[in-house]
Amino acid sequence: MTYGGFIPYGRQWIDEDDIAAVVEVLRSDWLTTGPKVKEFEEAFATYVNAEYAVSFSSGTAALHAAAFAAGFGPGDEVITTPITFVATANCILYMGATPVFADIDPRTYNIDPEQVARKVTPRTKAVIPVHFAGQPCDLDAIHQVAREHGLVVIEDAAHALGAEYKGKRIGGLSDMTIFSFHPVKHITTGEGGMVTTNSRQLYEKLVMFRNHGITREREKWRVWRENIGTNADQYISPQNGFGNSKLAAPWYYEVQFLGYNYRLSDIQAALGLSQLKKADYFLKCREAIAKAYNQGFAHLPGIIIPYQRDEVRSSWHLYVIQVNERTAGFNRDELFIFLRERNIGVNIHYIPVYRQPLYHHLGYCSQDFPGAEGYYHRTLTLPLFSGMKEEEIARVVSTVTQALKHGDFPS
Ligand SMILES: *Cc1c(COP(=O)(O)O)cnc(C)c1O
Repeated sequence: MTYGGFIPYGRQWIDEDDIAAVVEVLRSDWLTTGPKVKEFEEAFATYVNAEYAVSFSSGTAALHAAAFAAGFGPGDEVITTPITFVATANCILYMGATPVFADIDPRTYNIDPEQVARKVTPRTKAVIPVHFAGQPCDLDAIHQVAREHGLVVIEDAAHALGAEYKGKRIGGLSDMTIFSFHPVKHITTGEGGMVTTNSRQLYEKLVMFRNHGITREREKWRVWRENIGTNADQYISPQNGFGNSKLAAPWYYEVQFLGYNYRLSDIQAALGLSQLKKADYFLKCREAIAKAYNQGFAHLPGIIIPYQRDEVRSSWHLYVIQVNERTAGFNRDELFIFLRERNIGVNIHYIPVYRQPLYHHLGYCSQDFPGAEGYYHRTLTLPLFSGMKEEEIARVVSTVTQALKHGDFPS
């Protein structure tokens, strides 16, 4: 028996416009951070309704930068969800701070604000909610906890480009919001990421962090400012080697903290700009696929379709179904194998982060997270990407339905 070609759970959409945009940069003078990066950042900030956008070489680098700008350090605790890609929690470790996991809401799979409130201690510095699968978290409740305890809020919106909370686009609603442009996400730059913020101060830190902590802006120079009106010879000063002028040397720059090379290139930014023009179309495609799945599975016993809160519009990064073993007659693992054997690229998003060996030293146990554990054992992600064909959607629906009819199939 043949089952048709493999359908991946996610994949990029690249068309001739994207290719032409990249080729144009390759023929220009700028390959790395130049005019296209600026253009992409401005267009992106406008798209998500934020004051500032700073691009990075990946979503992970964007998380690292946000964690730095928020001032995470040893002794600080940062609360996040265990049901996320591990990069969300890793950015806390990068800064020497301690990740604290709060359990998820078993209906939305998002971090539960009540659990967040229960995990706050005097050492809590920040909370990083993740808009899981593209469905925005209960931001009002999270902001309420943050206000009460003076916490920074960094939204991980890697799944949520174009998503809305109470009619507002995700991106300008918290201190910082991060996005990813990995090929399975809504738009791609190959690898890439973005931090958006409405704070000038955070913006400036983010820009320096992605470029070695360097500033070329005279108003920010510390050594230069300190030397005005003092004996310049006692200091290592920008004036040294530039006569006795109070003007700084034209080559002068300062490294003010330990940063990285996390820059996005103009080649990637050109691709990002071209992709961003299609973001609304991609969103519509994703919504249409989710709707088709919802209809296809609505009356199947044993399959629980994604619950959506009224006040949100999901960007549908993932379509996650839950298997009710009792009514389905089989469990999630069996369904996973059944679908994979029939070339349906299902996946599990994600293994709870506290289960990873890197996190064992924090001493969490599964029993502490009934929401996350229930999620992990009963759910699976079906294929969903902008370019998915109708017959592919139909094949996924019919194969899941076929599994239900067989029930009890041998595993
Ligand atoms: C993809 C993803 C990231 C990391 O993004 P990269 O661009 O792959 O580094 C972070 N958080 C979540 C929730 C993601 O899905």
